[in-house]
Amino acid sequence: MKIVFDKVGSTSKPIELEVQGVKLEGTLQKNGYHRVALDARLSGSLRLDCDRCGQAFDYDMNTPLKLTLSDRVSEDKDDLDIIEFLNGVIDITYILESEISAIEVAFHYCDSCDGNEEALEIEY
Ligand SMILES: [Zn+2]
Repeated sequence: MKIVFDKVGSTSKPIELEVQGVKLEGTLQKNGYHRVALDARLSGSLRLDCDRCGQAFDYDMNTPLKLTLSDRVSEDKDDLDIIEFLNGVIDITYILESEISAIEVAFHYCDSCDGNEEALEIEY
């Protein structure tokens, strides 16, 4: 899903997209010069492999996603939540896919391993 940067106005524009069973639902709204705010929520479930026992499990998602999008190189290097779309086209699919990969590369334990410190010590 691609949205032309200049088409986003000060009235919030609803967006909805689903990738790999994860749904991004929210709004885009212009919030400054060359700035658009993405205020969304990720929901659904993602199939992950447990990093301890290797068992596949469904990771339920229900997390807010707030980002600032800009069509200019950001001068504010401290703000890590700014994503730059220098060609003037906001790629919502890319944002959602990046969020999904960030979750996939992080460590996750399935329900039976989660908080099971004792079993973890025995294994090592
Ligand atoms: Zn596990």
